[in-house]
Amino acid sequence: MSEKGFNAFKMAQEQFDKVADMLDLDEGTRQLLRFPQREYHIRIPVRMDDGSVKVFQGYRVQHNDARGPCKGGIRFHPQETADTVRALATWMTWKCSVVDIPLGGGKGGVICDPHNLSMREQEQICRGWVRQVAINIGPLQDVPAPDVMTNGQHMLWMMDEYEKITGARYPGVITGKPVGMGGSKGRTEATGYGVVYTIREALKLMGIDPKNTTAAVQGFGNVAQYAVDLYTKLGGTVICVSCWSQEDQTSYTFKKSTGVSLDELRKITDRFGGIDKKKAQDLGYQVLAGDAWIEQEVDILIPAALENQITGENVNRISKKVKIIGEGANGPTTPEADKVIHERGIFVIPDFLANAGGVTCSYFEQVQCNMNYFWEKDEVLSKLDTKMTSAFHEVASLASKKKIYMRDAAYMIAVSRVAEACRLRGWV
Ligand code: NAD
Repeated sequence: MSEKGFNAFKMAQEQFDKVADMLDLDEGTRQLLRFPQREYHIRIPVRMDDGSVKVFQGYRVQHNDARGPCKGGIRFHPQETADTVRALATWMTWKCSVVDIPLGGGKGGVICDPHNLSMREQEQICRGWVRQVAINIGPLQDVPAPDVMTNGQHMLWMMDEYEKITGARYPGVITGKPVGMGGSKGRTEATGYGVVYTIREALKLMGIDPKNTTAAVQGFGNVAQYAVDLYTKLGGTVICVSCWSQEDQTSYTFKKSTGVSLDELRKITDRFGGIDKKKAQDLGYQVLAGDAWIEQEVDILIPAALENQITGENVNRISKKVKIIGEGANGPTTPEADKVIHERGIFVIPDFLANAGGVTCSYFEQVQCNMNYFWEKDEVLSKLDTKMTSAFHEVASLASKKKIYMRDAAYMIAVSRVAEACRLRGWV
């Protein structure tokens, strides 16, 4: 989605250019990786409930598939743009590469606002989207998934349409399906747990026992709740979480110095991850301003709400005690703030590494669907832990060997793997 003056694709290209220089990539590889390999711009006609026909603009962008079929979500959003989808597809390529799963990067979207569409109209958009790109997606080509304002139901309609067109069962064509309909156990936990697996390893490197640490979390949705869950199970204390209040159209931080309780907070949280202020106060929580999470005297910050949250304006409010920032959200730190964090020597686990547990579990879903054999949750989570732990250590050891920032090390590993795949295929 575009904000005035901000172009996500331009930012993705600038990030790439920086890494390309660090890796001294040749011109051909740069030209290839700066842009998506393929994009489909589609028009989806839908008969609306009032009998009229409305035509929606949709996209599928396949940034790079040198390492395997493209992978990435489909967003439904009124401010979706081709450049946003291009940027997100590019970032998916790096995310799949940094955790070393055999997939490339893709992303899709439809310009629409599901709030103003009936379920039948949304179903028609899903089916229409698939009809337009059916020959360009598939378990061996490009595997979509849910993203902003799409969910498991949308994925099932899309899978059903694909199977109608192809005349066979292809559960591996799409991920993010409900468990029992081709979904993987552990997917709900995957991203938040993945964040904490990497934080656990960072603490190990520092010789710190998680039991002696505290954390502040921004967000209380899917990623944040499961991050709180696992971090607490490791013995850590989360002293506050912050979230958005639909009712007041502002955010709040809910703090308990002795540690928040996931169970008690979940009981008073709505489906959008908003906590009931009054009930929280009754449970003894202090209700502070939405951005108070950032200035807490804690060892770990976990931004797990949305992008552009740690900025040039608030970065200096981060306490001297903070040793680790585990980026659960996508793009929570602006480049300006990142510079300050780097200079201060805070250990950052960059977003596309820290939150790669989601796509890794989606890859597991695809593998299970292709085998038509499903693993138990423990098996999924143990495989996820292995993948995240090993990806973390590869990045951390490069960062330590070359004395570079974790974010740069992660980018260097991700981009060099994709560049090498292009070279081995004889593309460049
Ligand atoms: P979600 O919608 O479940 O939860 C978002 C949370 O952020 C909610 O608790 C909401 O109240 C809170 N929030 C919104 N605005 C806020 C504000 N201004 N201040 C404080 N809190 C605010 O979303 P999610 O799935 O948990 O995703 C969170 C982030 O993680 C996003 O950046 C997303 O792109 C990224 N991510 C998610 C996954 C996944 O598997 N869910 C995977 C990779 C990355």
